[in-house]
Amino acid sequence: MTQTLNPKVLVVGGGPGGYVAAIRAGQLGLDTVLVEGDRLGGTCLIRGCIPSKALIHAAGIYDQITGAARPEGRLGIPLAGVPSLDLAETAAWKESIVDRLNGGVAGLLRKAKVRVVSGWATFADAKTCTVETAEGEITIQAEHVILATGSVTAQLPMLPFGGKIIGSTEALSLTELPKRMVVVGGGYIGLELGSVFARFGSEVSVVEAQDRVLPTYDKQLTDPVKRWLQDHGIALHLGAKALGETPDGLEIETSAGEHLVLPADRILVTVGRRPQTRGLEGMALQMAGPFVQVNERCATSTTNVWAIGDLVGEPMLAHKASAQGEMVAEIIAGKRRYFDPVAIPAVCFTEPEIVAVGLGPDQVPEGVEPLIGVFPFQANGRALSMEAADDGGFVRVVARKSDHRILGIQAVGRHVSELSSQFATLLEMGAVLEDVAGVIHAHPTQGEAVHEASLKALGHAIHI
Ligand code: NAD
Repeated sequence: MTQTLNPKVLVVGGGPGGYVAAIRAGQLGLDTVLVEGDRLGGTCLIRGCIPSKALIHAAGIYDQITGAARPEGRLGIPLAGVPSLDLAETAAWKESIVDRLNGGVAGLLRKAKVRVVSGWATFADAKTCTVETAEGEITIQAEHVILATGSVTAQLPMLPFGGKIIGSTEALSLTELPKRMVVVGGGYIGLELGSVFARFGSEVSVVEAQDRVLPTYDKQLTDPVKRWLQDHGIALHLGAKALGETPDGLEIETSAGEHLVLPADRILVTVGRRPQTRGLEGMALQMAGPFVQVNERCATSTTNVWAIGDLVGEPMLAHKASAQGEMVAEIIAGKRRYFDPVAIPAVCFTEPEIVAVGLGPDQVPEGVEPLIGVFPFQANGRALSMEAADDGGFVRVVARKSDHRILGIQAVGRHVSELSSQFATLLEMGAVLEDVAGVIHAHPTQGEAVHEASLKALGHAIHI
């Protein structure tokens, strides 16, 4: 017999958008059901942000130990033997982190009294879905529906997944190191994962259609990353087209129009993601291209149907999805909220890392005169003491000349991801350069570079 549930709120998708929405709804006393077709945690926790950060960490350790095993040693720490890699064990350690977080999300949902239904939701109309579960079919009809179905890996028609051709999910679960890997797409995922395999010892090539890597960031920020990739033996084919698989690897057309075959045991395709709409077809929602159309409250074209996260457009970032989820739960509970952040921080966990918040120098609107301060990590004691000063990294503050209001802060450098919250806080609180200049920054920290970059914009940096 089909079971029927009639909650106040139905959340579809248990990623950082959906589970946060459900927890907040539960905290607010709303009777909430969350449907998830896979493991709780979504792409971010299960096959994205977290497992990739774990592998980036492991690859960094391997790289450091390998450095110590060179004849000259490293920082006076020579190592007699050469390290070996057991990728299956590394993958198992990474999976243990994923399991802990997955269990943590389940516990938080329980604490918030959210009922979790495991299975894929297929909608018959905008407020009614059925879910095939291990215990039989469940029909759910809710007063409010929050869609948080996320996104799936985009595929290239000439490189369908299977055999050698893999996406990020498979790359994160490899238990044997490929000897040669070709990465198609030099964006976030391609470079984060390509760098991991290069550090573990694979020969890595990157094929990128645009004329530079990470084309969504400005060139000043991506140059240090490009240098690192080249210094670490990663072959960059920029302005190149992937044509198709050959028995030996991948055939490409270079920017000069030449045809080459790049030998590969694995071809990792990372050319973006597209919204996940399977099961939502019966809802008849208004779309905006491939995304579900929403307004500034994340309301769709149908009353009391809400959509958040990757499903509603760029940036496809976990923290945007969570912020929208929390907001929608509060709107349903009667609070007045709308989604209008000053800035959404973006972090790329390459070597070195990139953080971008707000406007870069090229994005300042016409008619606004900018004041820009750049401070290199070469002049920062903490960075020097952590081997984080010589990769071309810096902090850049972009302000409006007329009133010194900070419009954007960006950085490239080792460990700079941890500065992203400070950057976002300054922008969200409407800080001016003098606010940063007047704050005592702890010494020795990399955060001092933000202080110095602001002083530089004001014309009186101390350490440069
Ligand atoms: P992306 O958009 O960052 O990069 C895709 C790259 O592929 C682009 O540089 C594009 O020019 C290139 N490309 C597209 N078609 C190509 C072709 N036929 N041949 C060669 N190159 C081609 O996408 P992604 O790296 O797949 O990441 C997907 C999403 O996941 C991003 O939107 C990002 O927001 C998110 N993500 C975020 C993080 C993070 O926050 N650190 C990390 C990974 C992924």
